[in-house]
Amino acid sequence: MTVTLEQKSPAIGQDIASSVPHGLFIDGQWRPAADGSEFDVRDPCTGEVIARLANARPSDAMDALDAADAAFASWSRTPARERGELLRRVFDLVMRDRDRIAEIITLEMGKPLREAQAEVTYGGEFLRWFSEEAVRISGRFGSSPEGNGDMIVSRHALGPALLITPWNFPLAMATRKIAPALAAGCTVVVKPAALTPLTTLYLTALFEEAGLPPGVVNVIPTTDSGGTTGPIIADSRLRKISFTGSTPVGRMLLEKASVNILRTSMELGGNAPFLVFEDADLDRAVEGAIIAKFRNVGQACTAANRFIVHASVAEEFSRRVAERVAQFKLGSGFDPEVTIGPLIDEAAASSVDALVKDATARGAKVLVGGQRKSGPGTFYEPTVLTNVSPDSRICREEIFGPVLPIMTFETDDEAIRIANDTEYGLVGYIFTQSITRGQRLINDLQTGMMGWNVGMLSNAAAPFGGVKMSGLGREGGAEGIDEYLTTKYSLLPTLPRP
Ligand code: NAD
Repeated sequence: MTVTLEQKSPAIGQDIASSVPHGLFIDGQWRPAADGSEFDVRDPCTGEVIARLANARPSDAMDALDAADAAFASWSRTPARERGELLRRVFDLVMRDRDRIAEIITLEMGKPLREAQAEVTYGGEFLRWFSEEAVRISGRFGSSPEGNGDMIVSRHALGPALLITPWNFPLAMATRKIAPALAAGCTVVVKPAALTPLTTLYLTALFEEAGLPPGVVNVIPTTDSGGTTGPIIADSRLRKISFTGSTPVGRMLLEKASVNILRTSMELGGNAPFLVFEDADLDRAVEGAIIAKFRNVGQACTAANRFIVHASVAEEFSRRVAERVAQFKLGSGFDPEVTIGPLIDEAAASSVDALVKDATARGAKVLVGGQRKSGPGTFYEPTVLTNVSPDSRICREEIFGPVLPIMTFETDDEAIRIANDTEYGLVGYIFTQSITRGQRLINDLQTGMMGWNVGMLSNAAAPFGGVKMSGLGREGGAEGIDEYLTTKYSLLPTLPRP
């Protein structure tokens, strides 16, 4: 395993300063915070400041809600085709600027450039998908069973929505919310993560270039998330919160949302099981494990957290995975040979370190990695652990880092019991060539999604979301737009026949 830090964000850092707007975007205008306050955004690879941005205050958030509320009447009545065409133009602009957006993601978040490019493709796809879904909002018509009434079921935009996004996929988490909201006819206030706001601000500039009407999208980066969003969540004009982030913050937002009975979508944490059965194609399982674990430096809600491997193949699987991991290269995401970038911040690196120490204290064996890297940046070595006790914290908590813990099982029942022994339920991965076993797992795994012989399954055309403490609602697919629509039932008397 090698580390390189030299080739850090060459001239991109300075270039970003001029290509990304630094203000809040409210009612179609870029502007400073009400009290002029600002905050720094840092490169996680070096710790250097890369931009200083306007830091929204509560009064700015209220201005953003005022604008979203004022724009709602006309945007929700704008023909669906026009709403879709705006999204389609933004998709085209994202594709035009794909390299620049990928550079911004790598600079502020740290993932290797090639992964940032993949995020642009994935994130851009939500704009295209929902540009197509905007014109497919349909209702239904029926006769009352008694024969004396005509029943119309129609669907309508909910109203202004607050969209709160995390730092790990700064483009995709924004487009996965903004695109269905706008397609449905909702207006939005977006609060990106303070660690990675630049990508959202750049995207906002593309919306502006595409002809976004004032007030339809408002963006308020802030370091005071709770204080700034609190007053608008308490305002009865807001009708929806869509949140992606950790389960504790999601739970707290659900409590706040209960005051005005807001519709909510919650994409929360995960603790994905990765099951390798004795009949698995091990080439595929190893490949799947590398993707499911190390993509985004393990900082994905869909990251495989617990590797549950049949005892008869565990040794070979562990050895082969460890051999691959030993060849990884840590360093700046701008170095094309780098496979593992930095963790997002100091707290993330300390948390991963503590989980590994707890696991080894309970008997886990380190096959490769297992250490923090000293020096600038918050790097943690990609790590493979075997003989992991199910009682370890690493099996109970979301790792959010490049650590692959392996446990073994003997029977299918045992594997399913271990897989479901978590409060989370976002995604599960299974590797088996048996159709009947796979069908059983579709029924028995307590997750919202399942990858079968694949290590990555997100797609704009598919409903993404979890069960249990992984959340409520779905993003993407035909289901994604429903999160921003309400259903109305109307009854008319059936006309008497002449
Ligand atoms: P986080 O919960 O700390 O923050 C998420 C967002 O919420 C950020 O914008 C943050 O500023 C904001 N926030 C924090 N406190 C808030 C408050 N009191 N009021 C309003 N907003 C507040 O999570 P994170 O560290 O940014 O992201 C990592 C988490 O996100 C992980 O748990 C991961 O599993 C989860 N995640 C889930 C999905 C999914 O689709 N299920 C996708 C990506 C990430």
